Amino acid sequence: MKKIAVIPGDGIGKEVMDAAMLILEKLNLPFEYNFYEAGDEAQQKYGKALPDETLEACRESDAVLFGAAGETAADVIVRLRQELNTFANIRPAKALKGIKCLYPGLDIVIVRENTECLYRGFEFEFDGVTEAVRVITRQASERIARYAFELAKREGRRKVTALHKANVMKKTCGLFRDVCREIAAEYPDIEFNDYYIDAACMYLVMDPFRFDVIVTTNMFGDIVSDLAAGLVGGLGLAPSANVGERNAIFEPVHGAAFDIAGKGIANPTAMILTACMMLRHFGYLDEARRVEEAVERVIESGKTTPDLGRNLTTMKFANEVASLLD
Ligand code: ATP
Repeated sequence: MKKIAVIPGDGIGKEVMDAAMLILEKLNLPFEYNFYEAGDEAQQKYGKALPDETLEACRESDAVLFGAAGETAADVIVRLRQELNTFANIRPAKALKGIKCLYPGLDIVIVRENTECLYRGFEFEFDGVTEAVRVITRQASERIARYAFELAKREGRRKVTALHKANVMKKTCGLFRDVCREIAAEYPDIEFNDYYIDAACMYLVMDPFRFDVIVTTNMFGDIVSDLAAGLVGGLGLAPSANVGERNAIFEPVHGAAFDIAGKGIANPTAMILTACMMLRHFGYLDEARRVEEAVERVIESGKTTPDLGRNLTTMKFANEVASLLD
């Protein structure tokens, strides 16, 4: 029995979590789901965005399934990633069948370093001057670069591309680039190259097929993964996993999206595909594939939420997917 800590969180997090739970319950796997609070509402209720009980439960569970946090995201999900040392954030950008998007057929994976960079929270302010400290270490860079190459090997991917800005941030990005080049030498069967982050953004928009696996630092990874989500149909479709040695947190790339929260129109696909990443993590490959195929079939049949042009509600979409799993 795997223990899953479920944190719906804020905004559309709750709505898409209901949808994903409907699918997971339908699969009837040996998972024990325990629900916990975190986010803006927890902050108001308990004075803590990430209550101790939630953090403890996440530490003790086999996996965390997370919806979204609003204004308190830094105190909740960024902290959770650091506390649980989930050092790799895996963000696939894959065009699903039936999606009308900029790049049908695109299938890339972004491997984002998850524990350092500007996300360490070292910000200072004095007398109208503000500073942020960017931390990049050899150890974390080696670990994430190796993870990217191992993922490429495991998934039969041909190429790893490192993104950085080593011409300006000579020390931090310079170290990251050099370490990626060193690790690349250990994997002669996998092609490697690196780009400056700004050029890479242009290439991603104009010719994304030149990428396969992207490895990059925390902040750049956050930005390019939203960009990549836009290439394949938007944030409503983009799943992600945070993986460490012992713990794993599964969360969609999108946030609380308060502009559409409470209306029942959020696309639950990102959250459902996130649950599929959790299934794969535990070795339920067939179940994950079945759910993914069901999602694709529903989308192909033209039944979608408003972000993809139709008018299904979040739960109607989830019910359509669930009905294909009988
Ligand atoms: P964060 O900074 O945590 O990523 P954010 O509030 O800046 O969060 P998101 O919540 O990720 O941004 O979403 C940006 C916009 O994308 C939303 O305002 C919404 O319009 C759209 N969006 C995001 N997720 C979904 C979804 N699941 N379904 C439909 N639209 C979505």
